[in-house]
Amino acid sequence: MFETFPDMEVLKMANSRVSLLRHSLNSFFPPSATSTFSLSILPTRRFIVSASISSKEAFVDSLSSQQAATPFADSENPKLSNRWKPMCLYYTQDKCTMMQDSSHLQKFNHSFYLENELNTTEYKNKHSEHFDFFLVLDLEGKVEILEFPVLMIDAKTMNVVAFFHRFVRPSEMSEERINEYIEGKYGKLGVDRVWHDTAIPFTDVIEQFEEWMTKHNLCSNDLCGPLPRAAFVTCGNWDIKTKIPQQCKVSKMKLPSYFMEWINLKDIYLNFYKRRAAGMRTMMNELNIPLLGSHHLGIDDTKNIARVLQRMLTDGAILKITAKRNPQVHEKVEFLFENRIK
Ligand SMILES: [Zn+2]
Repeated sequence: MFETFPDMEVLKMANSRVSLLRHSLNSFFPPSATSTFSLSILPTRRFIVSASISSKEAFVDSLSSQQAATPFADSENPKLSNRWKPMCLYYTQDKCTMMQDSSHLQKFNHSFYLENELNTTEYKNKHSEHFDFFLVLDLEGKVEILEFPVLMIDAKTMNVVAFFHRFVRPSEMSEERINEYIEGKYGKLGVDRVWHDTAIPFTDVIEQFEEWMTKHNLCSNDLCGPLPRAAFVTCGNWDIKTKIPQQCKVSKMKLPSYFMEWINLKDIYLNFYKRRAAGMRTMMNELNIPLLGSHHLGIDDTKNIARVLQRMLTDGAILKITAKRNPQVHEKVEFLFENRIK
């Protein structure tokens, strides 16, 4: 019933080629760079992008084309400019200075529209009364957190309505160690340059995240306590159960009270489809959703998890909190589903 998408391996290989090229472009041509040179390499990249797109993946990024309201149309093939393209990692962090540059807008995605084939009229889930919004979170960084991406999804329409993304600078590492760590983690994805340009300490990230949540009316008060209308959605328990409290200790800050409960998508998946999925890739393979972007680049993983979430909601899955922290003893976590991924 759940056959593997036959072109998946080809697609992955092609995608990784696009990722490498795309991120080397990102590295060599930051938003402040002039675009004279980038125009000359545009056709090559287009060729590879178009070669990587199978009929399954020929999605139309309608929001992106609306936002890119410059008259620089692709006269040779208008469809190419609407196909999948890498996120501008300056834009995701509110730091893109090239929003007026049409060639930059053509190369990099400046929209969080989720490329997929779902017909939202098929959205069978009428049980979203538990939450108004889902906050999909997928941290990166084993020693310390290096990336903090969140997508805010409207539970009624399943659309991405807002996003928050920051690269995070470790607080207890020497400069030399940070450089090695970033080279090993993001160097191979080609985004080490943008990481170094933009990363800020975790305490600043949390401060800005709370401003963002307040702006989107997610907090119950100015102090950003438990979220009355929204729930975090993660792939596994590691992000909120383990990593955030660890990083709070390292960064010498109190664990924010909105990290007291969350939804582990793997547990929902197990109970809804009656199948165990070890991770995001397994879920995507089983649901025939092609992986887009670079796996282990947090912002791309967050988008991919959000696409799994959309599919599950469309299929009729009901999302409920799967884990809760003891408010007195934060290390104690109660798991609310009997069948769960351990
Ligand atoms: Zn940009």
